[in-house]
Amino acid sequence: MKIVKINLKIANDNFDCETDSYERNMGSEISYLFYATIKCPECFNEIDLKINSWEYPIGALNYSDFEISGGTYLQKPSVSVDFEYYFDYEIVEEELPKVIQILFE
Ligand SMILES: [Zn+2]
Repeated sequence: MKIVKINLKIANDNFDCETDSYERNMGSEISYLFYATIKCPECFNEIDLKINSWEYPIGALNYSDFEISGGTYLQKPSVSVDFEYYFDYEIVEEELPKVIQILFE
């Protein structure tokens, strides 16, 4: 048996994701399972990747762990929690004249 070391970079969009949530004393805890199966370009072995992460409280990464079969992580996967802000422009426009009024009073 020959062991070859190949660097493979796996883009985020190769992963599928499953989520679940539980109620805890500081609100919801959300679990994420990111998973992907890729083929080794040298020997065509299947490599299964799993990244488990828990967000708790909302906005904070509580814990994550990684599993792999058919290969080794040369670099630990890193997981972070990102926020997305939504702005309702109609409400902002409606509220803006009131704000200006208040400022000039
Ligand atoms: Zn291989």
